Amino acid sequence: MTAREFLTNVTIILTIMAIGALIETALPMFVARPWARGRRGANLGLTALSFVSNWLLASVAATAALSLRPTGLLARLGWPIWLDIVVGIVVLDFSVGYASHRTMHAWPAMWRFHRVHHSDAFVDVTTTYRTHPVETGWRFLFAIVPIWLLGIPAQAVVIQRLLQATNGVIEHGNIRLWPPLDRVLSLVWVTPNVHKIHHSRDFSETNSNYANLLTIYDRLLGTYTPSTRAASVVYGLDNAEGMSKASCPGLVTMPFQSSARRELPDTKVRFEAGAGR
Ligand SMILES: [Zn+2]
Repeated sequence: MTAREFLTNVTIILTIMAIGALIETALPMFVARPWARGRRGANLGLTALSFVSNWLLASVAATAALSLRPTGLLARLGWPIWLDIVVGIVVLDFSVGYASHRTMHAWPAMWRFHRVHHSDAFVDVTTTYRTHPVETGWRFLFAIVPIWLLGIPAQAVVIQRLLQATNGVIEHGNIRLWPPLDRVLSLVWVTPNVHKIHHSRDFSETNSNYANLLTIYDRLLGTYTPSTRAASVVYGLDNAEGMSKASCPGLVTMPFQSSARRELPDTKVRFEAGAGR
């Protein structure tokens, strides 16, 4: 990725975040308490770190792609290009959006890093890229493997990244959606209400609604919680109180602190414990 492409990407994402922030002002879901403003600096610091991490990883991948040609399974099937693009977007949405995310909740070593994102006690557009650079690398692996194995067309990669960035900002946005519209959209699409449940302190809700674009993976794999529960969600993590006020360096070192013990004993057990609610 050239410096020009990097700056274009950053400009697009910051523009989407600015639009999301305007919608938050016009249609807020929850009233932001005064302390919520104090976390934005650290969140935006991690956002900048995410941009740089992605740039470095994309540059390494581009260099590797020149010597390692994709296996091109999709090309061998001879499907029309539009179908390759649609399949590529759906595969990447599953791999990067759902599978990489669910594994971070299930594997304690990765949860240490992903809990930085969940430690935000308020959720708005600045939470979107409150992610640790190790998480960025983890998600990148889940993109690069299917791209290489299937030979996913570049157009699919660009469209999926754009959709992922846009919906990532919207779903974290403190945005109130008209309930009937939310009910219809959430049949197939991850709305702000669907994702807000994922930021709940209640682990039976935290361990659900992993998807980024389509809700079908959560629905098919038994990890879907209806979006109607969003209004009662309490954000954050019980044993990470105070991390909302942490500085950017504090969030980067958070996974290495002794308090970062395993909090999610077993995803499956948690679901069973939460069953019937
Ligand atoms: Zn998560």
